[in-house]
Amino acid sequence: MAGEGRLLASPATRRISQKRHRLAYSSARHELSSFKFIQCEVDMKRRLFETTWLIFFAISAARTLLCQTPSQWKAHDMNRPRPPVVKPADQKLPVSPPSDAVVLFDGRDLSQWRSQDGGPAKWVAANGYMESVKGSGYVVSRGTFGDVQLHVEWAAPVPVVGKSQGRGNSGVFLMGQYEIQVLDSYENDTYADGQAASVYGQYPPLANVCRPPGEWQSYDIVFRRPRFDRTGGLLKPARITILHNGILVQDNVELWGPTNWLQHSPYQAHPDKLPISLQDHGNPVRFRNIWLRELPEWNDPGPANVKSQLVLVLQSQELDRYVGTYQRQTSNKEIYTIKRDGQKLRANFWGPAEIELVPNSEHEFSLRWTAGRLVFDLAADGRPTGFTFHLGGEEYPVKRIE
Ligand code: MG
Repeated sequence: MAGEGRLLASPATRRISQKRHRLAYSSARHELSSFKFIQCEVDMKRRLFETTWLIFFAISAARTLLCQTPSQWKAHDMNRPRPPVVKPADQKLPVSPPSDAVVLFDGRDLSQWRSQDGGPAKWVAANGYMESVKGSGYVVSRGTFGDVQLHVEWAAPVPVVGKSQGRGNSGVFLMGQYEIQVLDSYENDTYADGQAASVYGQYPPLANVCRPPGEWQSYDIVFRRPRFDRTGGLLKPARITILHNGILVQDNVELWGPTNWLQHSPYQAHPDKLPISLQDHGNPVRFRNIWLRELPEWNDPGPANVKSQLVLVLQSQELDRYVGTYQRQTSNKEIYTIKRDGQKLRANFWGPAEIELVPNSEHEFSLRWTAGRLVFDLAADGRPTGFTFHLGGEEYPVKRIE
């Protein structure tokens, strides 16, 4: 029997057997280790493959998303809902320019305009309006402008000819590259982002308020030009607000870049001021009474040479001296109260709001958020007997009553 054989084996025979067993065991371990190593390598390759695909998929998805317009509609999509039709109220036109306006066209001549090639404007000016001449090209303002409030009056041609984009098409190009569409959109269907008062190819108007062909209608446009840094990078996109026939149709929208047909064009740095142009799209659209106001910078830089005001830190007992009830010494005899809230004094003027008073000296406190001051009258013992309230160039005497 085999068992008996193993029991009867000599020590030498047993050592050989044990050595063979160890070798066999070692070989098996080596094979197992190799298998694990190979398995691990396979796992790593699989993970690398999966990760690569994941990255590739993410990049593809991002590219797809980046190809979408911010509105998620592709430009000129006829499936995009049309804005509601609103009949505008009667308007008194023309609207006279205010005293600070730059008048670009008062109905008499085209002296403020030129053609694209730099020569005289080739449109016709007569009877108080200018009219686009087919094939003559755009007319371009001789002046250059950035941020503006722009008033334009226009009328679509009569008799009605054409349809969709071929009917009464022109455009107001701010800085020569941001088009506010001019189109006869009165009972004339076209894509939403190309009808009258659209930011062409980007934003449909909030409402279709077009008057019938031949009737004068108005655009009042507020335009903020884009801002670029010194390297040409975009700091702020352009923004547009439009009233069409007195109705809000663009509400401070942020442009994606210059407007275009078929192609999306990203911003490219350009000068702060550029001409305004009117489009020749082959239709005899009329314009009159064009004026603008140049707008000041968006951001108020704040007062020049600001002097920081001294702010005292007063202890509770010092603050408590001002706590009390006061009465205004004018006809309305209003009651004010000053109380301490921790390490702050608060006063209620004209209502429940408790306004923080900032101590600037023993006599004087300022309002935390408003350019108002309280100048206290102090008795010999330092107790306030009242104060004068300074606000908006006025002074109000106030006496302490408790
Ligand atoms: Mg146009």
